[in-house]
Amino acid sequence: KVRVRFAPSPTGPLHIGGVRTALFNYLFAKKHGGDFILRIEDTDQARYVEGAEKYIVDALNWCNIPFDEGPGKEGDAGPYRQSERKQLYREYADMLIASGNAYYAFDTTDELDAHRQDHEAKGKTFIYNWHNRQKLKNSLALPEAEVKQKIEAGEPYVIRFKTPEDESLQLKDEIRGEMTIETKILDDKVLFKSDGMPTYHLANIVDDHLMKITHVIRGEEWLPSLALHVLLYRAFDWKAPKFAHLPLILKPQGKGKLSKRDGDKMGFPVFPMEWKDPKTGDVSTGYREEGYFPEAVVNMLALLGWNAGGGTEKEIYSLEELTAAFSLEHVSKGGSKFDPEKTKWFQHHYMQGAKNDKLASDFQQLLKQKGLEFPASYVEKIISMLKERATFLKDFWEMGSYFFKAPENFDEKAVKKAWKEDTPDLMNTLISKLQETEEFTAENVQEQVKSWITSEGIGFGNVMQPFRLSLVGAMQGPDVFEIAAAIGKEETIRRIRTAQS
Ligand code: GLU
Repeated sequence: KVRVRFAPSPTGPLHIGGVRTALFNYLFAKKHGGDFILRIEDTDQARYVEGAEKYIVDALNWCNIPFDEGPGKEGDAGPYRQSERKQLYREYADMLIASGNAYYAFDTTDELDAHRQDHEAKGKTFIYNWHNRQKLKNSLALPEAEVKQKIEAGEPYVIRFKTPEDESLQLKDEIRGEMTIETKILDDKVLFKSDGMPTYHLANIVDDHLMKITHVIRGEEWLPSLALHVLLYRAFDWKAPKFAHLPLILKPQGKGKLSKRDGDKMGFPVFPMEWKDPKTGDVSTGYREEGYFPEAVVNMLALLGWNAGGGTEKEIYSLEELTAAFSLEHVSKGGSKFDPEKTKWFQHHYMQGAKNDKLASDFQQLLKQKGLEFPASYVEKIISMLKERATFLKDFWEMGSYFFKAPENFDEKAVKKAWKEDTPDLMNTLISKLQETEEFTAENVQEQVKSWITSEGIGFGNVMQPFRLSLVGAMQGPDVFEIAAAIGKEETIRRIRTAQS
């Protein structure tokens, strides 16, 4: 059975790269009837951020890509926080020592720094590897008795992986294909730290094995770790999962990796949700807060590095369609440019497809926050009038606040243009014409006003422009008669009077 995991470190808010990794894992799992697991990799205490785990869980739920097993959703492979699995990792580090695949190293930070400086002075880089390990303070270089004595004396140590000295290692990535790595260029990575915690590498491999992960799908930044991970599986004599490294997400200009700072520069969120930094109190806004629908975000993310293949031009995919169409073969090797405008385009599309009654009830909430209350049927009517040009729910207010509230400001330029000497007289007649209109529908008002204008031979704009200005406050919006009918006779007349004064 296919089992995949999303394994974030709770070091802050998830940005879209992380959400895309989660999404691709989710799609792959669902496509194959498998399990999608959330594992929290919180072994690095120094980088742990309060609230980050909750953010991750909320973000996945908001995107409608919930995990099957994870913190709070216990399965057979739990617990799902590495901090709760702490005792386990030591055992596995010891196994590697016993089998000769790892060793104790006693070098202090100061000593390692000195080695580094020494090398630098000679124009070289210090690497803790097969070449140097014999000259350093570790259990491969020191007599056994001394090693034993140091450990018994409680001297701090780390456990390092003993990388094979000279081997051509064949690696396979599901997206990139085969590659060869020479082990002699690798360093002996620390597996277990002196503070009693495993490093990412050890914990990650042990957990993927124990959680029966079949496919590791993660960001390209982990590709350099692949050789070590494959060597670790071999050292444990475990079957390695398949690996797939997702392409980078690039800045819109295509130069360099997208970072969270790009979000500010583009005036565009790169976080799925609002995040308040517990240390600085800074708030960064996210897609949810900006008014994006999860469907739009998911659709946009899916196409960042994936396409259905076969030269298809299809860009709109529901989560179900994505699940059906997804495959790792069609994930691209090269980075994909993040496009804020395209993201808005997706949102506009999903706005057009949204149900008016649902939009109306959401918009009623927004009105309520402004202290306004209108019946659902009225709100729904306005929504249907404005929807074509709306991308976000808040657009209905920005484009059509006058449907809910008399204009407070009048566009000065438009006033200068539209409000002439005879306007007050014309507006008075308009009011009486409106009063005479019994059934106040758009058609009736239009007929009434137009027949008056034509019979008197008044310029059309001389009436219609100040009329619109009175109702809207600016020269914009849909048909004036529609607006008048929507807000009703009394309100229409009241607004014309207010504008006159
Ligand atoms: N904890 C790692 C991260 O934060 C997980 C990498 C992996 O998926 O192996 O991205």
